[in-house]
Amino acid sequence: MKIAILSRNEKLYSTRRLVEASEARGHEVEVIDVLRCYMNITSMKPEVHYKGRNLAGFDAVIPRIGASVTFYGTAVLRQFEMMGVYPLSESVAISRSRDKLRALQLLSRKGIGLPVTGFAHSPDDVGDLIKMVDGAPLVIKLLEGTQGIGVVLAETKSAASSVIEAFMGLKANILVQEFIKEAGGADIRCLVVGGKVVASMKRQGQEGEFRSNIHRGGTANLIRITPEERSTAVRAAKTMGLNVCGVDLLRSNHGPVVMEVNSSPGLRGIEGATGKDIASMIISFIEKNAKAGNTKTRGHG
Ligand code: ADP
Ligand code: MG
Repeated sequence: MKIAILSRNEKLYSTRRLVEASEARGHEVEVIDVLRCYMNITSMKPEVHYKGRNLAGFDAVIPRIGASVTFYGTAVLRQFEMMGVYPLSESVAISRSRDKLRALQLLSRKGIGLPVTGFAHSPDDVGDLIKMVDGAPLVIKLLEGTQGIGVVLAETKSAASSVIEAFMGLKANILVQEFIKEAGGADIRCLVVGGKVVASMKRQGQEGEFRSNIHRGGTANLIRITPEERSTAVRAAKTMGLNVCGVDLLRSNHGPVVMEVNSSPGLRGIEGATGKDIASMIISFIEKNAKAGNTKTRGHG
């Protein structure tokens, strides 16, 4: 097969591993900087061009689209889909999961466990919003933050209302969430490939830090997940429509709750913690599923 990896940097661990695994399995693979792709949107003849050449002949595309380039990256991916190239994850599924509010709404419709979450526009409603999530302490999140940046723990009601009002004043979209204290600064990353949890790890935040992100100094360890956690992760991935994703869970008093679903999960932490060759599992999934035009949407909506 001929595989394109949409990634801004071929030196990144995950990108390198996907290249290695593709080559080891006998595929031709090229890393393509999504921001250097440009598109011809002529009627019925979609094309993607790259550094002066027309990108044709790819069987599959692996999107590794960074959060800061979601808009442009998903547009390029959609263009590949319209050309009939098989996307490991579809552009609509990536857009769904990148917007934390949209993702939580979709998950709630399927009855998947979630932290109680509120969303409001007007500063006049802040008091009631705080009550809705059962008061302080509570967590305030930017809708499109990543790596723990933009996630704030407000310990008291007055801290919560000042922070919420400040974000609203800056016109930032935020959601307000029940603080799952009992998670103890840890979360569980479940890596889902093709509807199965193939690996999982526990991430523990630094001493005194409630955010477990590795980028915030968290550490990863092996963990055994429960059948309920496993099925929650699988259902969350299915709801988002993502073939490959990292589902982040918190262990709460009311069972596993999904915090977010990551459409470009990093491979370094999970391969390191579990010793598993996740990159090869991903390529093997593509081998089984990549047929021209085998997407649910083919770039629709
Ligand atoms: P990001 O996309 O920036 O990683 P997350 O929603 O995953 O944002 O939050 C970052 C971290 O903060 C999580 O990994 C978790 O450890 C902690 N966290 C987030 N939401 C909650 C919550 N409602 N209760 C307890 N801890 C939380
Ligand atoms: Mg996270």
